[in-house]
Amino acid sequence: MELSTAEKETKKRVDMREQPPLVRARNFLEVPYGYTPDEAVEEASRCKTCKKAACRTGCPVEVDIPGFMDLIKEKKFLEACYKVKEKNALPAVCGRVCPQENQCESRCLLGKKGKPIAIGNLERFVADYEADKGEMKIPGMPKPTGRKVAVIGSGPGGLTCAVDLAMSGHTVTLFEAFHDPGGVLIYGIPEFRLPKEIVKKEVEYIKKLGIELRLNTVIGKLHTIDELLNGGGYDACFICTGAGLPMFLGIPGENLNGVCSANEYLTRANLMKAYLFPEYETPIKKGKEVAVLGGGNVAMDSARVAVRIGAEKVYLIYRRSEAEMPARKAEVHHAHEEGIEFLFLTNPIRFIDDGKGNLCGVECIKMELGETDESGRKRPVPIKGSEFQIEIDVAIPALGSKANPLLTKTMPELTLNKGGYIATDEGTGMTSKKGVFAGGDIVTGSATVISAMGAGRRTANAINEYLKWKHWDYQQ
Ligand code: FAD
Ligand code: SF4
Repeated sequence: MELSTAEKETKKRVDMREQPPLVRARNFLEVPYGYTPDEAVEEASRCKTCKKAACRTGCPVEVDIPGFMDLIKEKKFLEACYKVKEKNALPAVCGRVCPQENQCESRCLLGKKGKPIAIGNLERFVADYEADKGEMKIPGMPKPTGRKVAVIGSGPGGLTCAVDLAMSGHTVTLFEAFHDPGGVLIYGIPEFRLPKEIVKKEVEYIKKLGIELRLNTVIGKLHTIDELLNGGGYDACFICTGAGLPMFLGIPGENLNGVCSANEYLTRANLMKAYLFPEYETPIKKGKEVAVLGGGNVAMDSARVAVRIGAEKVYLIYRRSEAEMPARKAEVHHAHEEGIEFLFLTNPIRFIDDGKGNLCGVECIKMELGETDESGRKRPVPIKGSEFQIEIDVAIPALGSKANPLLTKTMPELTLNKGGYIATDEGTGMTSKKGVFAGGDIVTGSATVISAMGAGRRTANAINEYLKWKHWDYQQ
């Protein structure tokens, strides 16, 4: 039965049931269980189906949110999933990891008085329903165009671009440096936030579309882009290699045994299954007392992995206050529940050596918030004389990452921005080199899954046009 407007405004949001904190802190299974069909209908029935749906403009790829809400209300779950997929090829991923609180859900009118519609949870529900009940729909493929495109990097941006290009009839090869495709979705975001089965299904799908996957292939080392374009038979290239080079603190002791970048730590744990040692051979230092340094999603993921692989105590050290943390609120909440101790307004100043080259502690200084800086946040300022030490045997700097120069240094003619990111024409993704396009984190710096997917889609359209005319010039 349709709810009245007043009922919609006052009805409580249906939260997803979750594994209890003490149980999940010892396993890698997904934290929330997901909605049942009844729960999904109940939550969707709060949607007012606004004529000017602001939520839609909050989504970087403009998913037809009211459209898929209506289909859920009518219990047409498969159709609801297809509606989402018109704009977003990876709803099971985005429903789980999009920062909805800053995107679609932040614009929902119900959020003014109460909680916004749980758009992400519902997107996840319809995608899981399709995976469970529906058959993988392989669309009819268009006539081959005879054009060949190389996509470098199989993260969300590369996957999206490859699918769209294949659907336009081009022959696509997806080159990936790692032995498993998926980019950060596979090597960075842990299983308990994004089960790897979901990414594997997407990869199965792209293989069924005829896209060739070449794994263990580092472009810039094994082949250069020039080799692919001249002699390799490719008519265009899309570089979507992410921003995977970790940043460090630059403080004394960072080379001690026991200090490991979040990037390496998560890659060992997720991609190389180190948490299943000795079943998998990859070693990881579990640590008794672990400190994670940073306040973003990567820091939160590292701290929650450390708890799960058996650390007795995990600190999360962040130089600003909780309000300034860039991590998703839900992840911070989960981390609190799982027993991670947050040390806010605290900055590490040196790692301490046990005399044998091993880490045995970290010296920190307390901070206070001063003037607002260029990022719009209050600048943390050290409080003189407030130094203190804590005992730790593993430290995980999670301070963000930057562009890896491995590929770009083999292409001196490519124009780069200050941070080493590739400069592109905003609308098309065309770089300073003809026929070479770029998108995702390697252009924007670390961003989000959905923004990389948006770039993949826009660039696929542009490559399509380019392949028709082939006489574009780059303009910045
Ligand atoms: P990536 O996903 O980085 O993929 C790039 C791929 O290119 C990789 O597979 C890499 O191996 C490959 N590659 C690199 N160089 C080469 C080469 N020379 N030759 C061949 N292949 C190469 N975003 C969210 O929206 N929500 C979240 O909750 C979230 N959590 C995150 C947690 C972690 C731990 C991390 C690291 C990031 C997180 N992000 C999150 C950010 C998000 O994952 C990225 O913005 C997104 O994955 C970028 O996509 P991409 O396709 O540009 O690159
Ligand atoms: Fe919201 Fe992300 Fe889905 Fe867009 S793709 S509707 S931002 S959850």
